[in-house]
Amino acid sequence: MRPIRTEHKAEVIRDPWTGQILNHAETDTIHALDDNDTLRSFSVMSRVPNSCGCIAPPGGLCSVCSSPVCAACFAASRCVLCRRPSCPAHAVHQIDASGRTFALCGSCHGAVQRRRRLYALAHALLSPFVQWERSHGTR
Ligand SMILES: [Zn+2]
Ligand SMILES: [Zn+2]
Ligand SMILES: [Zn+2]
Repeated sequence: MRPIRTEHKAEVIRDPWTGQILNHAETDTIHALDDNDTLRSFSVMSRVPNSCGCIAPPGGLCSVCSSPVCAACFAASRCVLCRRPSCPAHAVHQIDASGRTFALCGSCHGAVQRRRRLYALAHALLSPFVQWERSHGTR
């Protein structure tokens, strides 16, 4: 077998946020002549799995870490407040009152947590006055 030509193909994704080029798939091909002078071609395609672990075409890039995520995991990890897409590692999954799961991005989750703490604090500070008003207000 005598190799006469090699070919290298790369499939890349350009990160829309950073402009960085990310490798997605590579194909190496060798064209060779065998002992009967017949041309034979051998190709090896290696695909980089998405950051969610799925081997599927990428549905998009995480808005936090820019790693590719498949369409199914992307849909499950999109923030319900700002609609920004995240990879499963950067989405914070929550369960609503009716038991359904939904996702928040890191910054919306942080904002919700801060608001919750603020409400709890305001409630704790105001509750003595509220009780005082209830017992003394209506006379
Ligand atoms: Zn991410
Ligand atoms: Zn996936
Ligand atoms: Zn968000």
